Amino acid sequence: DVSCADDVTFESFFLSNHVREGLRRCGFRKPSPVQVKAIPFVKDRRDALIQAKSGTGKTCVFVIAALEAVKAANNHTQVVILAPTREIAVQISQACLWIGRSLPDLKAFAFIGGLSVEQDVQKLKRCHIIVGTPGRLSWLFKQGYVLTQEVKLLVLDEADKMLEKGMKEDVKYIARRLPRNKQVICCSATFTSEMEALVCALMRNPEKVITNPPLLKFGIKVNEEDGNLVGIKQFLVRVEPHHALDWILVQRKFTALLTLLQTHSFSQCMVFVKYQTRAENLADDAAAAGWPSACLSAHLDQRTRLKALSDLQKLHCRILFATDVGARGIDVENVDLVVNFDVPTEPEGYLHRVGRAGRFGSAGIGVTLVSGPNDEKLFNRILGFTGSKVYELPLDYSGNLW
Ligand code: ADP
Ligand code: MG
Repeated sequence: DVSCADDVTFESFFLSNHVREGLRRCGFRKPSPVQVKAIPFVKDRRDALIQAKSGTGKTCVFVIAALEAVKAANNHTQVVILAPTREIAVQISQACLWIGRSLPDLKAFAFIGGLSVEQDVQKLKRCHIIVGTPGRLSWLFKQGYVLTQEVKLLVLDEADKMLEKGMKEDVKYIARRLPRNKQVICCSATFTSEMEALVCALMRNPEKVITNPPLLKFGIKVNEEDGNLVGIKQFLVRVEPHHALDWILVQRKFTALLTLLQTHSFSQCMVFVKYQTRAENLADDAAAAGWPSACLSAHLDQRTRLKALSDLQKLHCRILFATDVGARGIDVENVDLVVNFDVPTEPEGYLHRVGRAGRFGSAGIGVTLVSGPNDEKLFNRILGFTGSKVYELPLDYSGNLW
């Protein structure tokens, strides 16, 4: 069972009263397997590398560690949490306030690019838990706006992503600026051995909590049915290629997408697209075709990005078109259908995208549109890594996918 482990309750971890009460008030009754394994270590202030698949509740693990570390009477920053996208950072800060609701006066804010610096500086005057993207946070650190001497915990969510080129230097800079004896927790659904080594270099003798066998590392198939994505049924739809004109192919894929949406029942859907402008155009086209849609891509301004997510969460729209900026980490509870409009280029990308469906043990469906020999090759390579079993879905099939 993905969602809950038998016999263990949150009472088993000897957490502070306010944390236990917060969890109860959130409706978290039983810890998930990764929570059962990881909470005892992180609560003991051990460094930890936590790998568990998407949607299994990793956030809650480090939020508990953060809440246990914070003394609200002390105005200094005591926890720093880094995340690769602005949306994840906002969700984490919300999770801190949500699970920390019984700790009076708790201050947790997100510091992300695209929103005002003046407000950031104001918030930093009293902020127990800082959550942010590496770029904005390292800038705030460099300006001297962050008081670092009482930081006890550093968390890297989606740690493998953040140690890729681009963010790595900022992450390392922030880690260096924090006290040496801090605790470090690193999470992801995917760690290649190379990334694991980089991540471990930031920690001291980390405890490794791995709840799914390291598929990507050794290429072992564990779960014949759905590989690394337990609970998500995966399909591919073949779309006739058009080698000369890309827009004709996009049109064909769009028609396939509309057919899919019309013929099968789903609650909400995320559609992953390779290019930002394509995502935006498709969202407009889908809206014109009668599907309330939003779009999440890196070049939209930050308010629009946050609004897209909140529209989805508030059920104001049913379809979110996104580039890979929306593939990782974000928690969209009602998304039960993920469509890869374009085949992702990396196996990790596939796992993260399709992992947006089936949060916390609920069932989900992942459909990948495949067109032509290049797509086939790319997709087969992905399936070789992930060990997923994928069914071909004829477009005129109208039976039940679930
Ligand atoms: P991950 O980071 O592992 O992909 P998240 O931390 O985003 O997953 O959690 C996925 C969802 O599960 C969230 O909506 C979260 O509120 C919910 N959740 C986490 N832990 C529990 C629990 N013990 N009981 C019920 N729901 C939980
Ligand atoms: Mg997460």
